[in-house]
Amino acid sequence: MKKELSPKQILAVRCPTCAAAPGEKCELNNGQPRNNPHLDRRLIAKD
Ligand SMILES: [Zn+2]
Repeated sequence: MKKELSPKQILAVRCPTCAAAPGEKCELNNGQPRNNPHLDRRLIAKD
């Protein structure tokens, strides 16, 4: 059974890569919002 996290679950944790706060989207280095959350954030949200 494959576990897929919903965007809501991923956004519930802080991103370790870009330091996006919970509830906020990941950002690129130039401050633009990323379309997808960082990989590390998804891994943390899985725990
Ligand atoms: Zn991020």
